Amino acid sequence: MYPNGLPNWSDADWVSRFDETHAILESTAMNEGRIVGIDLGTTNSLVGAMDSGFPLLFPNSEGRRLTPSVVAYPEDGVVQVGSPARRRLALEPATTLYSTKRFIGRSHSDLQASETQVRYPLVPSGSTVAVPVRGQRVGMETVASAVLSQLKTDAEKILQEPVSRAVVTVPAYFNDAQRNATKRAGEAAGLQVVRILNEPTAAALAFGVQHSLKEGWIAVYDLGGGTFDISILKVSAGVFEVKATCGNTCLGGDDIDARIVERLTAELFAQQSSAALDSLVQARLGEEAERVKILLSEQATATVQLPFAGNSHFQRELSRGELEALALPVVERTRKPCFRALSDAGILASQLDRLILVGGQSRMPLVRRLAVEIFGREPDTGCNPDEAVALGAVLQAGILEGSVREAVLLDVTPLSLGIETFGGLMNVIIPRNTAIPAKAGELFTNAVDGQRSMQVSILQGERELAKDNWKLGELQIGFAPCPRGTARVGVQFQIDENGILRVLARDTKTGGEQVLDITAVVDVEDARVEEMVAASVEHALEDMGARRMTELRLKSQHMIGSARAVLSLSLALLEEGEQERIISAITALEKACNEAPEPVIKSACAQLDEVTRPLAQRLLDAAYEKALEAQGVL
Ligand code: AMP
Repeated sequence: MYPNGLPNWSDADWVSRFDETHAILESTAMNEGRIVGIDLGTTNSLVGAMDSGFPLLFPNSEGRRLTPSVVAYPEDGVVQVGSPARRRLALEPATTLYSTKRFIGRSHSDLQASETQVRYPLVPSGSTVAVPVRGQRVGMETVASAVLSQLKTDAEKILQEPVSRAVVTVPAYFNDAQRNATKRAGEAAGLQVVRILNEPTAAALAFGVQHSLKEGWIAVYDLGGGTFDISILKVSAGVFEVKATCGNTCLGGDDIDARIVERLTAELFAQQSSAALDSLVQARLGEEAERVKILLSEQATATVQLPFAGNSHFQRELSRGELEALALPVVERTRKPCFRALSDAGILASQLDRLILVGGQSRMPLVRRLAVEIFGREPDTGCNPDEAVALGAVLQAGILEGSVREAVLLDVTPLSLGIETFGGLMNVIIPRNTAIPAKAGELFTNAVDGQRSMQVSILQGERELAKDNWKLGELQIGFAPCPRGTARVGVQFQIDENGILRVLARDTKTGGEQVLDITAVVDVEDARVEEMVAASVEHALEDMGARRMTELRLKSQHMIGSARAVLSLSLALLEEGEQERIISAITALEKACNEAPEPVIKSACAQLDEVTRPLAQRLLDAAYEKALEAQGVL
C-alpha cells in the first residue's frame, strides 16, 4: 500500500454523524442542570458556575473561595476537607494528606525520591500509590474525590440545587492515566466530569474573555504548588488555539518549600545536635517555610519562628536574597520548557502580545523577573493568579451549557499521527501541533496484484520509519481482488475536542468501512513527547536517508515491473538488440537495489529509463495510430 498523492477526500455523512452526536449532547445538557467549573489544584481548589452570564466563584463554609486541597483522616473517622484538615497538618502529619495531586494516576515505581518528600508515607497499591491510614490504604483518587465532594456540597449550598456535572482542570502535561484518575475521582464524588480542561488553557480563556482579547499571541506561565505548565496560545477572531504546551508535572512551590526546610533542618541539627527532629517539628518546619516564603514576596526579610522545636526555641531571620538563592535552581528549571514551547509554536518571544502568570508561586518576585527575562516583556497584571484557572473552568462550563458562545477552545496534537505505508514508512496524516478538533485523510491504493485487503497500522511519532514510532492500533479493510494500483481506500483521521482519535478506513468502491477509536492521542506524557522529538532530531539525517532509500527502492521496483510488462507486450515493436539492452538495465537495477548506495541505484534507474524511452514512445505512437484508425481518420 502506498500513498498516491491524491488530495484529502471529503465525507459528508461522517460530518453529519458527528453533528448528530453534538445534537444528542446538547439536548441532554438542557435537562441536567448547571455545570460547575472546578480548579482541582495541588494546593488549593476552587469551584464556580455561570450566573446571569457572569463567571462566579463560590465561597466555602468559611467564606473563602480557596479551599485547601487537604484531606485529614482523624481517629474519630470523620473525614475532614479544606481548612479544618489543613489545621491538622502539624498535629497529625501522617494522616493528613496534602499535595496528593502529584501522585494521582501514577505508579509507585514512577516516583522519584525527590517527589516523595511529603510528611505521610506512600506505599504501592496495585498500579498506583496509597497512604496507609489506620490499617487502611487511602488511594489518591479517594483523596481527590473527597475534595471534589466538598466543592460539590459548597456549590449546591450556593446554587440551592443539586450539582451533578463538572468541568475539571488538570495540568497540560497530565497523561491519560492521570486524567482518567481525575475523572474517576469526580464520579466517586457524584460528579460527571463532562470535560477535562488544561489549566493554562483555562487561564487564557478567563483572561481573554475578561479583556475582550480577540487577536494575538498569549504565553501562559503557570507555576503552582506542584506543577509547572507553559502554553503558547493564539487567539484569532476570539477563538483560542493552544499552539504548543510544555511543562513538568513535578515542579512547583512545594520544591521551594522543601529547599527551605532542608536548610532550616540542617541549622536545627547544628543547634541541637542530640535532638531528633520528630515528625511534628518537621511538619511545623514545612508550614513555617511556606509562610515565610509567601511573606518574602511582599517584604525584604521575615522571621522563621519555631517555638519548642526539639529541646529549645528556633528563630532566625530569612532575607529575600537568601530565599532567592535557595529558590533559584527550582525556578531556573522553568526556563527550558519556555524556549521549547516558543520554538514549537514557531514564534519568537518578541511576537507575544500577552504574558499571563498563573499559579500562586508566580507571585514570587524572582519568578516574575525570570519570566520577564525569558519573554522579554512585562506580565499582564489583570489576572488573579489564584483564580484565573477556576474562572476559565467556569467559562468552559458555560460554553458547554450554551450560555457562553463567543469563545472556542482548541488543544494541539503533541506528536504526529499517521499510518504505515508500503516499505515500512511513516505517512503523516495529522502533523504534530495541529489544533484539535482536526480532520484529515488520504487515499491509498494496493501495491500488489490481486490483493484482497489492506492493513492500516496507526502510528504516533516523529520518526520517518514506522518501526521507530508508536503503534496505536490496527485496522483491516477488505476489498475485491484487483490489479495493483486500482483499489481505492480512503483513510480518515478525526480527533474530537476530547482528544479521541477516530480512524475510518473505507473502500470507496463499495462503501465498506472499518472504524477504530483510540483514546489519549493528545494527552501524551511530557517525557515521552520530549524523548520522541529529541530522537527525531538526533536521527534526522539517517532517518531521511532511510526514507529516501526506501522510496528509491519502491520506485525502482515499480520501474522494473513496468519495463517487464512493456517488454512482454511489445515484442513486435522491438529493434535489434533493444530487448537485451532493456534486460541488462533491469538486471543492473535489481542488483543495485539489493546492495548499492543511493547514487548507483539512481543512475541504474536513469539508465533503465533511457533504454526504455524509445520503446515507450513507439508504443504510444502505435496506440495513437490505432485510435485514429478506429475513428476512421487513417
Ligand atoms: P497553586 O497550586 O496555584 O495554588 O499555588 C500554590 C503555591 O503557590 C504554593 O507553593 C504556595 O506556597 C505558593 N504561593 C501562594 N501565594 C504565594 C505568594 N504570595 N508568594 C509566593 N508563593 C506563593
